[in-house]
Amino acid sequence: MLAARYYGIGDVRVEEVPRPVCAPGEVLIKVAYAGICGSDLHIYRKGMFVTYIPVTMGHEFSGVVAEVGADVTGLSPGDAVVGDPRVSCGNCEWCRQGQGNRCPELGFIGEVSPGCFAEYLLMKPEYLLKIPQSMSLRKAALVEPLAVALHIAAIAKLTPGVSLGIVGAGPIGLLTILAARAAGISRVAVVDLSPGRRAFAEKLGADLVMESFPEDASSQVDVVIEAVGVENTLQGAVKWLKPGGRLIMAGLYEDKICFDPNDIVNKELDVKGVNAYGTGDLKKATDYIDGGIIDVTPVVSHILPLASAADAFTMLTASDKNAAKILFKMDYCKT
Ligand SMILES: [Zn+2]
Ligand SMILES: [Zn+2]
Repeated sequence: MLAARYYGIGDVRVEEVPRPVCAPGEVLIKVAYAGICGSDLHIYRKGMFVTYIPVTMGHEFSGVVAEVGADVTGLSPGDAVVGDPRVSCGNCEWCRQGQGNRCPELGFIGEVSPGCFAEYLLMKPEYLLKIPQSMSLRKAALVEPLAVALHIAAIAKLTPGVSLGIVGAGPIGLLTILAARAAGISRVAVVDLSPGRRAFAEKLGADLVMESFPEDASSQVDVVIEAVGVENTLQGAVKWLKPGGRLIMAGLYEDKICFDPNDIVNKELDVKGVNAYGTGDLKKATDYIDGGIIDVTPVVSHILPLASAADAFTMLTASDKNAAKILFKMDYCKT
């Protein structure tokens, strides 16, 4: 089968690898669509998260069950599924409380085990969510990143009346616009350096889209979601907040930064980090997409064959970003 594998910084190769064999207690999934995540770019640019090479990348996917191993109940060949790609230890204090996203050992498929940038993928049945047959597999590939945005919206306590600023109009920033709307937020402002990304934010209905942070106090907001993870955007996010405001740190940092925290102290800001999501967020994301509460379609900028994986990574790491979410569509996928 075809797979896109990470060999080292800037080195992604699409090659033929053996199709995995379905053992007892496992499910073989024929992948339909797979999305490139910001964390895949951290791998590509900096080699973060991966524990071995070459590793088949990817953790966002939709697909159809091809085979179920002995002892698997509740899933049958032909079922449409999405996955919970988190790999946690299962034993720590947080895992035992169902908070696997706080597990100190947290990793993802595509980093610590083979991922979904491949025609077939093996997973344990407890990590698969059956999706309604009515749901398109293309939209279903966005369940996982939408779960991130829904988790952000919940941690940020987004309720009607809150004024919101989003830093970064990459896929997570864009999906957070949609999650904020679903939570009843009427006014969303977005900051992004890239004209291409700002155009996506406008298309998704942001009320105010800016190239740089507003300076005046009257433009300050109650909540800022920082979804980039570099020095200037974190500093700008803190300045953008009203006294007593809430900073949600959703971006991961590739480099050490120099940061003046005095505004956090002086404004008595509430600072929260967010990491991935809980199982309930994946279920909620499925319901929101299937129920038409959130339309994820405009977040997808390109649908490409898996064979062009190397080009897709080049496109997403270019300085001018004209791509948002890139999905790989497997060649046999008809819908
Ligand atoms: Zn992701
Ligand atoms: Zn754990």
